[in-house]
Amino acid sequence: MHRFIQLHCDKKHQDVPKKKGVLEVSFKEESLCELPYHICEECETLFIYGYGKLKNCPHEHKPSCRKCPDPCYDKPMWKKMAQVMSFSGMQLGLTKIRKIFSK
Ligand SMILES: [Zn+2]
Repeated sequence: MHRFIQLHCDKKHQDVPKKKGVLEVSFKEESLCELPYHICEECETLFIYGYGKLKNCPHEHKPSCRKCPDPCYDKPMWKKMAQVMSFSGMQLGLTKIRKIFSK
């Protein structure tokens, strides 16, 4: 998800001032890794919100949120996240295709 938001912000918010930060990802009080990011405030809010929700997800085996039986996102945030995901998914898809062609 981190990559998706970063990519979305790079492409879509080129003119928006960006903030640098590091998000510490932890699970059950244990620090797993740190994710450096460089995104705008709007994306940062979404990013932190998304990770907070992921962390508190009650499901043992995380279903993809799209298929989650009880999505924990608030509607407006979920809509935004869905947009970011589909945009970046497409971008990543395109990047892949471009790489294949340039070989
Ligand atoms: Zn952004």
